[in-house]
Amino acid sequence: MASNPRKGHRYRELCREVRNMGAPCALCGGPIRYDITGPEAGKHPDAFTLDHVVPLSLGGELLDITNARAAHRRCNSARGNRVAPARRDTSRRWYRR
Ligand SMILES: [Zn+2]
Repeated sequence: MASNPRKGHRYRELCREVRNMGAPCALCGGPIRYDITGPEAGKHPDAFTLDHVVPLSLGGELLDITNARAAHRRCNSARGNRVAPARRDTSRRWYRR
């Protein structure tokens, strides 16, 4: 059975590196709640996630720091597999699924 690289040591290292930069969300430009960690971060919409500039499904490198950036959980999941960052008008409301 293939092991999941997202659970690997190098992936966690990369996450920590990007997180340590403390950058705003690459998709909407808003501040990320870096104070949210642990199990809460897995559900909180403003929590940090590692976003890939070129999505993995389109051949992007999982472990390349130049393909990694910080994004909100909600922005990352809303973006899906589009390559161009969707910078939305902040007055526009996101629809909840
Ligand atoms: Zn965002």
